[in-house]
Amino acid sequence: MVEPIGDSLRDTIRARLREGRLPVLGGSAWAGHAPGDHRCACCHRTIRANEIEYEPRDQPAVYAHIGCFTAWLAESRLMERRPIMEADGTRAEESRELEDSFER
Ligand SMILES: [Zn+2]
Repeated sequence: MVEPIGDSLRDTIRARLREGRLPVLGGSAWAGHAPGDHRCACCHRTIRANEIEYEPRDQPAVYAHIGCFTAWLAESRLMERRPIMEADGTRAEESRELEDSFER
């Protein structure tokens, strides 16, 4: 079961992508059972043994929880499509649609 992704996590990931502290993901990743000593690049919590962890193919030795990876990937796609927010702070329609598809 995937935990709901809070807005605060999405906001954190978005901010870190903008600052260049998290790489923009290309999309594909390895998924597997965690050995239990990797730390999630997104939320910084340890990925416990036998939880599913994701390792982006273009970012080896970086790991994330499945829910965090999903948020990270969604934010990466938004960054690539629309690096600058609309002037009034709202997101474009296409971005919302993309986001919706990740939250179900
Ligand atoms: Zn995480």
